Amino acid sequence: MPLHAVRPKILGFISEQASAWLVALVVVLVGGALTLVVAWATADFNQQQVRQRFQLLTNERYSRLEERFEDQEQRLDSLRRFFVNSSSVSHEDFDGFAQPLLLRARAYAWAPRVFDDQRLVFEKQVSDDRGEAFSIRELSDDGTLLPAARRDEYVPVLYSQTQSVLGSPLGFDLLAQPLRRSTIERAYRSRAIAVSQPMQLVGVEPGYATGVLLLVPVSRPASAQMPDNEPFGYVMAVISIHQLVADGLPRAARDNLVMQIVDTSDTQQRVLYESDNVVGRSGLEVTRRLTLGDHVYVLRLRASQVFEQGNHSSVISIMAMGGLLSLLLSALLYVLVSQRQRAVKLVQQRTGELRQREHELRAAHGQLRSVLNAATQVAIIATDLRGVINTFNAGAELMLGYEADQVVGSMSLESLHRTSELEGRAAQLSQILGKRVTRAQAMLVEGVDSVHEAREWTLVRKDGSHLSVNMLVTALLDDHGLWIGHLAICLDVTEQKRVHEALAARDRLLRKLSAHVPGGIFQFALEPNDNWRFIYASDGIRDIYEIEPGLLQQDAKQVFERIHPQDAERIRASIRLSALQLSHWREEYRVQLPRQGLRWIRGEATPEELPGGGTLWHGYVSDISDLKRVEDELRALSITDSLTGIHNRRYFQDRLRAEMSRVRRTSGALAVIMLDIDHFKRINDQHGHAAGDGVLQELCRRIGSRVRSSDVFCRLGGEEFMVLCPSTDADQAFRLAVELWQSLRSAPMDGVGIVTASFGVASWRFDEAADSLLLRADSAVYAAKQAGRDRVEAELSRE
Ligand code: GH3
Ligand code: MG
Ligand code: MG
Repeated sequence: MPLHAVRPKILGFISEQASAWLVALVVVLVGGALTLVVAWATADFNQQQVRQRFQLLTNERYSRLEERFEDQEQRLDSLRRFFVNSSSVSHEDFDGFAQPLLLRARAYAWAPRVFDDQRLVFEKQVSDDRGEAFSIRELSDDGTLLPAARRDEYVPVLYSQTQSVLGSPLGFDLLAQPLRRSTIERAYRSRAIAVSQPMQLVGVEPGYATGVLLLVPVSRPASAQMPDNEPFGYVMAVISIHQLVADGLPRAARDNLVMQIVDTSDTQQRVLYESDNVVGRSGLEVTRRLTLGDHVYVLRLRASQVFEQGNHSSVISIMAMGGLLSLLLSALLYVLVSQRQRAVKLVQQRTGELRQREHELRAAHGQLRSVLNAATQVAIIATDLRGVINTFNAGAELMLGYEADQVVGSMSLESLHRTSELEGRAAQLSQILGKRVTRAQAMLVEGVDSVHEAREWTLVRKDGSHLSVNMLVTALLDDHGLWIGHLAICLDVTEQKRVHEALAARDRLLRKLSAHVPGGIFQFALEPNDNWRFIYASDGIRDIYEIEPGLLQQDAKQVFERIHPQDAERIRASIRLSALQLSHWREEYRVQLPRQGLRWIRGEATPEELPGGGTLWHGYVSDISDLKRVEDELRALSITDSLTGIHNRRYFQDRLRAEMSRVRRTSGALAVIMLDIDHFKRINDQHGHAAGDGVLQELCRRIGSRVRSSDVFCRLGGEEFMVLCPSTDADQAFRLAVELWQSLRSAPMDGVGIVTASFGVASWRFDEAADSLLLRADSAVYAAKQAGRDRVEAELSRE
């Protein structure tokens, strides 16, 4: 299956071929875009939240301030009601009531209306009550309090409860001061709380100096003295704006809101209060209306820098985080993709290599399979560790008659063996190794002394017939050297065995034959490196040379040590000649043996050329000593005259030929003496043939004892004799002839008397033929006969 068909995607969506850089870039871009979207949404949400929070803060602030404003009105109103409901209020009563009310108010005061006609009585009464001088006063131009100028009505401060260290300006006529006056007038007209314009309070710290005066007329229900609900005084509260609106709130440095209060009832639209913290840049702003008495204030609340700092947008963080995450994700994906690609590349490379290996393995497997099947003459059987066959090649099929399918996986190697043979081997091995060896092990285990060697086994064919094989069993090891089974390689040795047996039979025959053949047979080689050796030497050789045949197979030198020194060189030369000409070799030679002494040997051999050079002879040697002896005897007989025992004519002729050739070579001398018994016929006739024979024998004795050892005395036939005298000239021969003649005729022979003979002498003449020499000797005998017999006739002189 092709690899790309199942190629997975990285994280399920990234193609493995995508560039890691591209993936990283896309991730960064997508991450950036997502970050922007999230940041935008967050910013929007954040803004809403900020706005809501600001709204909450402003609502709360507004509620608090409104509450405080209402509280101030209520407190003042409660003081008013105190006066309304009391018939008379003393200084102590006022202090007792007003004291607890002093919360976020600088002072409370009570100022009764005093008309001008009541002024003196009033001043006197108060002076009496207080125990000190009291007068209605007003502020002079230089800022000091002076008794008030006369007018219709006064509203002097009578009771006062203040937080001011300066105390209260008792007797100060409120009508004397325009700001207070207008406030009283408004209160009077409305019969309700009136608030003064902002004014500077004295005797307080500068931050608290801006304040207002809250004032409400106090009137009883209509009565005789005071009709129309005419107020009889005023209660008032002096309020520091700062104290009212800022006390109890967060300090400016921590306040989320920047607060401004503007008096809208005032034409100058004066700012009553302004917090000194810094306005933020958000532009968040709320304007509310606050009512205090008859005044309406605008409360302007803006988000401070502190608020913004506390509610700063998380967009930057989100963008930073988003950007960072995108980068990290991008880096992660880059690493992931590039690593994956590297891994995929590596996998592809490895896969390629594996495919190549697989291909090679298949090819090798195919080759192996082909080799296994091509080896039809060899049975190759492999087994697993249990011995079950897993490979059974074509050779095995041919040899054993089983199909591979019938054997593989179902039969064991053991089951192919002949059981009795396996058992025998197992018992043998058990004895050798001293431990029990099973039948299965018997195939594999070797004896103590043998290494892994092929061994002959008998296998059983499918048809039950037996097959002799030479089987080599080796262990099969895997790449890690672990034992995975066995490999048995079997060669059919039936034919080999048959041939071997035939050869052995032939060898036995050869041995027997050679044992019965006199002498020995051999194969002798002259190798190119001039090495002489016997390839084969039968036992008979031992008797011929008295050397062990085995030794001769290495070196033939010992044979030449046995050969007679006079023959050795001749034999060597003849062998070399035979090798050179490839001619039949035949020699007779003597050997000198330690035990048998001198013996005659005859050798015959036929040479053939060896393929690599050199010559090989097939031949035999035999002892011919007896033959030689017989031959010598026969030879002696053939050249001996049987009656007289001296050499016969054949011998004479041989010797004459030899001496002639010698005398021709050396230019020496040679002479012959011929003799013929005189009237021998008559002896025979007179004394009988036997007496004649006796005469012949006696003559030979007498002549034979007289001739020299170098002379050759022969009977030519009948009663004719010849003496061959080598190195003898005519004179010497003549003297010898005379001597022989004398020896014959000097004494009678038994029963016969004196026997004489005629002698003829001839000496060899240069360049003369044998026949000519003999003819001359014969002529000399003839001449002696003619001259009367019983004499020596010298050589005829040259004509
Ligand atoms: P002459 O003096 O002229 O030589 O006379 P002769 O009788 O010797 O001559 P001849 O050569 O005619 O005779 C030779 C005789 O020798 C004839 C033959 O019977 C006899 N003779 C030849 N060989 C033998 C032999 O071996 N034994 C005997 N007893 N006689 C032989
Ligand atoms: Mg004769
Ligand atoms: Mg004669």
